[in-house]
Amino acid sequence: MTDKTRVRFAPSPTGALHIGGAHTALFNWLWARRNGGSFVLRIEDTDLVRSTGEYEQTILQGMRWLGLDWDEGPDVGGGHGPYRQSERIGIYLEHANRLLDSGQAYREGEAIIFQVPPGRTLAFDDVVYGHIEMASETLKNIVLIKSDGFPTYNYAVVIDDHTMEITHVVRGEDHISNTPKQILLYEALGWDVPVFAHLPMILGKDKKKLSKRDGATSVYEFRDMGYHPDGLFNYFALLGWNPGDDREIFTREEAVGMFDLARVTKKAAVFDTDKLNFVNQAHIARISPVERAKLTLPFWNEAGLKPCDRSDEWLAQALELLEGRGQTFRELAEYTDYLLSFDSVKARYDASDLDEANRGLLRRFFAALLEIPSWDADAMEALAKTWCEDNGAKLKDVAMPLRWTLTGRKVSPGIFHVAVFLGREETKQRLCHYGLA
Ligand code: GLU
Repeated sequence: MTDKTRVRFAPSPTGALHIGGAHTALFNWLWARRNGGSFVLRIEDTDLVRSTGEYEQTILQGMRWLGLDWDEGPDVGGGHGPYRQSERIGIYLEHANRLLDSGQAYREGEAIIFQVPPGRTLAFDDVVYGHIEMASETLKNIVLIKSDGFPTYNYAVVIDDHTMEITHVVRGEDHISNTPKQILLYEALGWDVPVFAHLPMILGKDKKKLSKRDGATSVYEFRDMGYHPDGLFNYFALLGWNPGDDREIFTREEAVGMFDLARVTKKAAVFDTDKLNFVNQAHIARISPVERAKLTLPFWNEAGLKPCDRSDEWLAQALELLEGRGQTFRELAEYTDYLLSFDSVKARYDASDLDEANRGLLRRFFAALLEIPSWDADAMEALAKTWCEDNGAKLKDVAMPLRWTLTGRKVSPGIFHVAVFLGREETKQRLCHYGLA
């Protein structure tokens, strides 16, 4: 065994990269990077019926999107390959034969089965869950190789973790019950046992197993909902771990500097979308305006708002108007739709709330506003205040209709700032459309 920390993420390519898998991968990655060790990606594809190359690709891409790079794996190679279990059948047979030869396993037809010895206490000290032990009497004999020649999970995982020189097995707590069987196999093969650290379950808000009810479950759904990978990374890191102080917002590098498996809690973590949104918002705030605009592009495009007609600077400034509002890129696109297209305003507002008396007052005010010498928010506000005093109106009597006309919303950034951003001509056209100029 080497002294260097070696951890692995071992997904079965039978579905997308889900929250639980991403969380496990992330904690392994943090531990590897924290210790200057290696992060190994191993594909557990012995379920021939359910495993596909497409799922494998989806999982790899999901990890890349989250910023979890690996040092060894099916695509990058490494000194401990191959990294797909389906390509390691010879290795599994070789060690199964050793167990046959030593009389610890027997054949049953084509299958090879490990004979569980009686009277043994199988104990380990889990980094997170503490001391766990089990009497060997409670275990049935363990199938190593099935009659189709493929290994079972509990056998292959031992062969792989040993031959890949894994020092820490970090995985979901649903595998705690498998660990005693695996320990028995390590001992039968004469191998040292790695350190085990099981990670707490992630539950939905109803404290039940996470499911579709809780919203997105695959990493790609989060991307498509407009989360920043840094925000999702940060939030996942907080599920079952914290830096030990009040810090909740951190970068990958900061997390690497602070991470410790010993601080992982065994209490199930509850997936809280509000908290995720809060963390994501903080990461959106950290990036540069131009980067923010770049990452909002897909969502403007999806809404048919034609961002390609605008310059990068224009788009960045449009987002600056929000002054931090919006928790996802999707919301940023939504909250700025009226800046990119008047159609979105027309779809929301038809001015049917304005009677003739209102319209008369508004026409006189907007005529004065559109004539203002310098098209500047402070000047507009000063003009509006004076004009309202002189005409016995309240500021909101003119500001609200202007807001509706320019944005089609009850809530928006400072409406004179919106008018400045849109420009005198566009403001006039929108007012004209509603018969107010
Ligand atoms: N392929 C197993 C799973 O996805 C890996 C479990 C382990 O890490 O040992 O659950």
